[in-house]
Amino acid sequence: MSARDDLATFAVVRRGIEAWYAAEHRDFPWRGLTDPYAVLVSEVMLQQTQAARIAERFPTFINRFPTAAALAAAPTAAVLAAWSGLGYNRRALALQRAATAVTTDGWPRDVDGLQRLPGVGPYTARAVASLAFGVPVGVVDTNVRRWLLRRFGGPDAPRRLQALADDLAAPGRGDGIAAWTHATMEFGARICTQRTPRCDACPVADGCPSRGMAAPVHVPRQPAFNGSTRQQRGALLRELAASESHAIADIGLDETIVNALAGEGLLHRSGGMVRLGGRLQSGHDPEGEPG
Ligand code: SF4
Repeated sequence: MSARDDLATFAVVRRGIEAWYAAEHRDFPWRGLTDPYAVLVSEVMLQQTQAARIAERFPTFINRFPTAAALAAAPTAAVLAAWSGLGYNRRALALQRAATAVTTDGWPRDVDGLQRLPGVGPYTARAVASLAFGVPVGVVDTNVRRWLLRRFGGPDAPRRLQALADDLAAPGRGDGIAAWTHATMEFGARICTQRTPRCDACPVADGCPSRGMAAPVHVPRQPAFNGSTRQQRGALLRELAASESHAIADIGLDETIVNALAGEGLLHRSGGMVRLGGRLQSGHDPEGEPG
């Protein structure tokens, strides 16, 4: 296929998915937002957590910390308490550090600058760049990767898929790219789904080599949660978040887990108690990638 054919195919696919999205998309509290802080919060929350769950929690978090400056100034224990139950609590610490950075230095407006913020990887940087700043770059999350592989075929190489997503996103600017970013993810989540893709309802089924015979796209398995250290860590952090003073007596707790969480700045020991948050408060926790 020539470059011209590629461009024509991209235009058809993009128009089909955009039209489907305009008619069929779900309303979520983060749709239509252009405030980079609100976009960043929603994108960090959505990493590894289902959208329906975030739809309940996102408004509460934003009401509690309405600006990056408010989040940066908050006690870390309060941030972790507000995050409680969303899992991967280091994301909350990284988010607070990012809020501190943009409060001090202002928002980077391009992918490279955004990616230098704490806890912001290639996907999140592109999502914020496109949704908040109208930069025409493509996002590749699990849903997008799946439908790109099915609609355009392999190989399943991250750089190639990113280039494909960028090519599809290239015609958009401003509002156009924001709608496309939402559409491309929603399409994978609702139509080209992992187990039972809805080829009969697919707006880009014409010319799709996987039509009617799409196999699940391999995703790395998460280790079992039940009985895991992650489950125990989460239970201890939830207990701390739920207690009135965000502290519980340092008695009978699993040493290894307490020490690991303390090392990550998620709790600290003082006065015979274990307390939520690092010893230093307000976004001054130790460095570390969220996990
Ligand atoms: S036709 Fe089926 S496999 Fe192809 S993109 Fe549409 S939903 Fe996915």
